[in-house]
Amino acid sequence: MALFIPYGRQSISQQDIDAVVAVLKSDWLTQGPAIAQFEQAVADYCGVNYAVAVSSATAALHIACLAAELGPKDPLWTSPNTFVASANCGLYCGATVDFVDIDAKTYNLDVAILRQKLIQAQQNNTLPKVVVPVHFAGQSCDMAAIAPLAQEYGFTVIEDASHAIGGQYRGKPVGCCEFSDMAVFSFHPVKIITTGEGGMVLTNQKPLYDKLVRLRSHGVTRAPEHMQGESHGPWYYQQLELGFNYRMTDIQAALGASQMQRLPAFVQRRQMLADRYFELLQGLPIMLPAQHSDAASSWHLFVIRLMLDTLQLSHRQVFETLRDKGIGVNLHYIPVHTQPYYQSLGFRPGDFPEAEQYYREAISLPLHYEMSLDEQDYIVDCLRACLT
Ligand SMILES: *Cc1c(COP(=O)(O)O)cnc(C)c1O
Repeated sequence: MALFIPYGRQSISQQDIDAVVAVLKSDWLTQGPAIAQFEQAVADYCGVNYAVAVSSATAALHIACLAAELGPKDPLWTSPNTFVASANCGLYCGATVDFVDIDAKTYNLDVAILRQKLIQAQQNNTLPKVVVPVHFAGQSCDMAAIAPLAQEYGFTVIEDASHAIGGQYRGKPVGCCEFSDMAVFSFHPVKIITTGEGGMVLTNQKPLYDKLVRLRSHGVTRAPEHMQGESHGPWYYQQLELGFNYRMTDIQAALGASQMQRLPAFVQRRQMLADRYFELLQGLPIMLPAQHSDAASSWHLFVIRLMLDTLQLSHRQVFETLRDKGIGVNLHYIPVHTQPYYQSLGFRPGDFPEAEQYYREAISLPLHYEMSLDEQDYIVDCLRACLT
């Protein structure tokens, strides 16, 4: 058993290593064939038309916002229970960020609150241009309820599916964009599959795809049909807008394509370990993560909530006791609006009470592909000793 059991970590096989080495020995380290292969593998898996690989999910969220034409002072709304990147992408565009409090059971953005906030925003003429639902822990938001609101109020939906590759919603893969304009995955090592660093934007809309491809690489096109005026010749390119260097390398993409082949096994093992947590944690003074019948989680995270009024120990004491025993518990997430930077933008503690209450009670237990059953039993034993 490992001396320290991390909450998440990558799994790298010999097949993964061989795929990366093959690229290192090839002609192309970037902008070669591995990128297209990885994009195709993800698009096929998700049943979506287009996929654009980039250097991180943060970069993916940024260019998705730009493709949605989010600009200065335009409102972007997201969940407070997320990593800061889901909100920062709006600020990069000069947008005004606001939050929609979470559902007390799924910890995803609460659609009833979203609806109320939209009605108010319509009266004040402050409707959002972009809404970023975050599929927390790998469980999809209620997208079928969000899509009609997007229609009615005219906002673009960008799914932050950083946790959720391999998950399903209403029997279809997360990322198929049936109920959204774009979806974003992260390939950071703690996520479901990894490329070291990396991200991807998925969409079914060709104009968005063309724009995303340009924004990934300096706003430059080499396609004569996109140019203003005639091409000067085979060397010619045009910069049509202000883009970035957000490209993924072929080294990373080869790892990603190899990891895609392992994705079903990754999710199956996570599901099995999650089922086992549900079984072993029965009867403890904690809340287990509620699963909506429309969603099949990819199980990026397994979050419990402590019933603090029945416990001798504080939230922090439970957390520290587990850490002292070599268990890499973590806390996802510190509500974004309570971060000093967001406080400086005018947010205050108390603004999103459900996310704040959740933060006072939540603990992420370790869950990853290579975690052993012995390690899981040890975690459960330590937790039980702590809580009873
Ligand atoms: C990890 C994560 C991101 C950022 O992903 P990077 O690939 O590290 O940029 C964004 N949103 C959520 C919800 C995440 O968990």
